[in-house]
Amino acid sequence: MDYKIVIDAGHGGDDPGASGNGIIEKDLNLKISNYMYDRFRELGIPVKIIRSTDETISPTERVDRVLDAFGNSNDVIVVSNHINAGGAEFSYHYII
Ligand SMILES: [Zn+2]
Repeated sequence: MDYKIVIDAGHGGDDPGASGNGIIEKDLNLKISNYMYDRFRELGIPVKIIRSTDETISPTERVDRVLDAFGNSNDVIVVSNHINAGGAEFSYHYII
């Protein structure tokens, strides 16, 4: 089966995700996601990305974008990038 990949950079815009040591999760998620997107494209693997900028996306909109990318079938792999904060810091976190 030829798989298609959807990359989701977690959080974004008004939703920074976890933070610590001067790192904001939404920014690191975006860097990782953009790198993955470019790399899959270089390899000729069908890939789409949910956000490529620092953009606020509601959970509903995020799901819509995932489903719009290649439809909902079992040859689609969705990678949702998140980075957890370590230690005792509390962080709000959701993963679709
Ligand atoms: Zn997160």
